[in-house]
Amino acid sequence: MKLLKDINLKNKKVLVRVDFNVPLNKKKEVTDNTRIFAAKPTIDHIIQNQGVCILMTHLGRPEGKNRKLSIEHILDEVQKTLNRDVIFVNDCIGEKVKKAADSLKLGQVLLLENLRFYKQEAQGEEVFAKNLADIAEVYVNDAFGVSHRRHASTVAVAKYFQEKCAGLLLEQEKKAINQFLESKQHPVTAIIGGAKVSSKIPVIKNLLSSVDNLLIGGGMAYTFIKSKGGDVGKSIFEPDMIGICKELLIEATNKGVLLVLPEDVLAADKFDNNAQTRMLNASNIENGWMGLDIGEKTQKIFNKTINESKTILWNGPLGVFEMESFSKGTKAIAEAVVETTKKGSFSLVGGGDSVAALKKFNLVDKVSYVSTGGGAMLESLEGKTLPGIIALSK
Ligand code: AMP
Repeated sequence: MKLLKDINLKNKKVLVRVDFNVPLNKKKEVTDNTRIFAAKPTIDHIIQNQGVCILMTHLGRPEGKNRKLSIEHILDEVQKTLNRDVIFVNDCIGEKVKKAADSLKLGQVLLLENLRFYKQEAQGEEVFAKNLADIAEVYVNDAFGVSHRRHASTVAVAKYFQEKCAGLLLEQEKKAINQFLESKQHPVTAIIGGAKVSSKIPVIKNLLSSVDNLLIGGGMAYTFIKSKGGDVGKSIFEPDMIGICKELLIEATNKGVLLVLPEDVLAADKFDNNAQTRMLNASNIENGWMGLDIGEKTQKIFNKTINESKTILWNGPLGVFEMESFSKGTKAIAEAVVETTKKGSFSLVGGGDSVAALKKFNLVDKVSYVSTGGGAMLESLEGKTLPGIIALSK
């Protein structure tokens, strides 16, 4: 896979797949520009090297041309964040786009309309991909967050270019994930949380080959606890996954991985910030109660392991951190990761909700690397090479 520095960009039209799928409020204002800011180094590099920069992205999941999800809504924020003139064209293929691309001046950026206004984008359709490719000479993929998808703009488009490469963000994301998976700095610890164990099984399976410690919290812990014969009350768990959790516990033991489950939990009588709460043994949650956060004893046990680790991955909150009453466990773990990072350990945090938690606690810039990808990061941690990355090497 080529990198941006390997390609001569001078006077070339460069089509860049970015991930500007940013959150909007009711007034259609961008509420978080992280993803736009993350693409800035690539865009600056192309312009500094006298390339002509054409950006394509999706926004939300429109069915057809839904103006509510027009890229026009994010234009002001893109100009502000990139600190450049950005010209918007209300399509992503066709004559209008070609004309706009041809009349671009050096330093200007062209931003195309929502790729997903065409259903062919998500279908990875070839003719649509060829139409996208028609306006440029170089293709750059800087959309790590969608590189696990076989879409026209992430996979099919690449074959129409002799010159193609990864953008700086994609390069950085790949490097951070490899730094974790291939780390020789032991102990290596993964902290995995979140609601659904089913979505994390392949990741946990793959991590058992590379980590020393696996700390499991959040809603997903209850399926593991259940698989050991514990009582979880009305905490969430996935009955279909009990068998596989049992197998993973055995595999962890066989591989010498210390897999740690919560010992105590903050339980509630309902899923509500103002619910009645009790600290309970995690394997003995009474009927009518649900575990919504890890308890204080568990926080101490997890923190000790995190403090001793040289390489750390954190994916998924340890409790329902969106509710103040159940955010303490996630906050304590986030702080422990930050403290260990300060001492020189490498920490990688990813997955939408763990990043949201870091933001809530104002700790985003205090870990080594924050991934912009959710699904893309998980698939990379499963040991897969993403389709959008493979397409760059063909
Ligand atoms: P996921 O998308 O699977 O990573 O799950 C993230 C969500 O898990 C967050 O919205 C958390 O509120 C939720 N979560 C974490 N711990 C629990 C729990 N003990 N019970 C229910 N939901 C939880």
